[in-house]
Amino acid sequence: MIALVLAAFQLAAAMPVRPAPVADRIGPARAAIGSDGHPHLQGDTPAVVVVDAGHGGVDNGMSGPIGATHKIYEKNITLQVALKLGRALQARGVKVVYTRTTDTLINLYDRGPIANRAHGNLFISIHVNASNPKWKDAATARGFETYFLSEAKTEDARRVEAMENSAARFDSGSPVSKGDPLSFILSDMQQNEHLRESMKLAETVQDQLGAVEPGPDRGVQQAAFVVLETAFMPAVLVEIGFGTNPQEAAFISNPRSQTKLAGAIADAAVDYLNAYRAGVNGVADRVAGRHQ
Ligand SMILES: [Zn+2]
Repeated sequence: MIALVLAAFQLAAAMPVRPAPVADRIGPARAAIGSDGHPHLQGDTPAVVVVDAGHGGVDNGMSGPIGATHKIYEKNITLQVALKLGRALQARGVKVVYTRTTDTLINLYDRGPIANRAHGNLFISIHVNASNPKWKDAATARGFETYFLSEAKTEDARRVEAMENSAARFDSGSPVSKGDPLSFILSDMQQNEHLRESMKLAETVQDQLGAVEPGPDRGVQQAAFVVLETAFMPAVLVEIGFGTNPQEAAFISNPRSQTKLAGAIADAAVDYLNAYRAGVNGVADRVAGRHQ
């Protein structure tokens, strides 16, 4: 059993995953655009998006910007953007479950199970990036990036992975799965089922954010985030900007920019859900769409 599991795991790990060419990427279907100019969920089947505001409570997440006396804290920005994202999704016809709606600490290992219990169709975790203080001109790094769960491929992805996973030090209790290699492999396999879907969702989020975030677009990235590992559904982690950069810290703290960022991520999620449904349900769904 273990050998079989390992073989299947190695096979899944060996599959190359590359971002799709821009032409193949998901765009909004014309039929799905509502009178508000945003895509709306198509079909009668409800969809649940789990919105995860990174950090919270004693875990402030990153603080910035570098050299400033007035500091912003990641946990506050992620909560504001997550609440706005939830409202934007609801306005587009999607049900929303939050992992937190107040300044409270939710264990990193508990966030995926919350999403699984809610039978979420998608999991979106919101975070704020921080440059490495050892970098030359550390305050100048900026831009947005979206991660899906896989092995970290670059030094930069490993930096973000280590930074976000370090929040586990605030976790209370020890979940059964933590540190157990077999359960890690099993959970990794379950998540692997959703690898390509998560990557597509990440691409769609990046494409939509590009329209509202001054940038630069740092692209779709992959890393082994604990928070994504335990959510058995397409799942992404969005780093909406660098809180260490003064201009970007001001941008992501501004309520109007937060509304734009949340709206772009909501549009991406709905575009993704509509495209996924059209692909899975095929003709029946498309015919139903024509009669709406
Ligand atoms: Zn974070």
